[in-house]
Amino acid sequence: MNQPVNLDQSIRDAFSQAGKILVIAHVRPDGDAIGSLLGLGLALKEKGKQIELVVEDGLPASFKNLTGWEMVRKWPAMKPDLVITVDCSDLGRLGDDLANEFQVDINIDHHITNLNFGRLNVVDTRAVATAEILATRLPMWGCPISPASAPALLTGLVTDSLGFRTSNMTPQALRVAADLMEAGADLPELYQHALVNRSFEAVKYWGAGFTRLQRMDRLVWTSITPADRQAAHYNGRDDADMINILSAINDIDVTILFNDQGNGHIKVSWRSQPGFDITPLALQYNGGGHPAAAGADIEGALAEVEAEVLQSTRCYLKLKGNGQKS
Ligand code: 5GP
Ligand code: MN
Repeated sequence: MNQPVNLDQSIRDAFSQAGKILVIAHVRPDGDAIGSLLGLGLALKEKGKQIELVVEDGLPASFKNLTGWEMVRKWPAMKPDLVITVDCSDLGRLGDDLANEFQVDINIDHHITNLNFGRLNVVDTRAVATAEILATRLPMWGCPISPASAPALLTGLVTDSLGFRTSNMTPQALRVAADLMEAGADLPELYQHALVNRSFEAVKYWGAGFTRLQRMDRLVWTSITPADRQAAHYNGRDDADMINILSAINDIDVTILFNDQGNGHIKVSWRSQPGFDITPLALQYNGGGHPAAAGADIEGALAEVEAEVLQSTRCYLKLKGNGQKS
């Protein structure tokens, strides 16, 4: 993919030439998707741009603490001059309808599995979160960080790093977090809201997953279903961050969560300990992610997908165990 010599200048020019800007984040959005969407959207709005912020699944209620949440919609109403994606490693992450409708002008992301599908691609795999890339570069693109955009960006940084503790953390990410605090973000409040507070329904839902927990050698897995969500009165099809709780189990190399979406698709999440890069497994199923946290959406029945993925993951672990641990 050809990139202009001065990427930052090209983006600055694209921003200044566009009047109507569409920003899209990925399906089943997490804190970095929403934080980046709102952080960029608010910064562009403050520059006088007409903006639309879109996520195919809409905004999860847990992000209603962030300024601008009410702007997030499922489909754009206007015809944009410029289309930007945030935190999406491939076009499939936009959702099929959005991916078929729009050409992506600017792709901003930090996943090692990013396919550089934009006309301009800002892909920095050293960044802990897409929000970190935005916090660093928005001023270079003519958009200062404001008291409204700073909390959204810090939410992205805090959530993707699980509270500054993932193996990809850097001193630079902490400096960016400090800058965002100085720009008006309340770290303790955002941290508490995004990573500590949980609804009663979410914890009941975890319970269903915990009762089916299984282990074989250094692999742990479980599943969750629409019936579990219904029984717990949990709204949404996500895992309520269950995978991050499961990955705290000691003496395990890889943890897998199978989330039956109830539409013939299973959302699979992998988490691994340092030394096990699980992106090849996710890519094998047209998914993607990071070396220590990856996912894929696989068509099929739960039992089928579970058996197939467990087998391929066990094969992979065996290979790594035989002296090829990276
Ligand atoms: P999670 O398992 O929490 O959904 O996601 C872990 C990581 O993998 C995140 O960085 C997320 O963006 C990525 N990921 C999850 N599911 C998919 C998928 O279906 N496709 C791609 N390309 N990436 C995914
Ligand atoms: Mn991210």
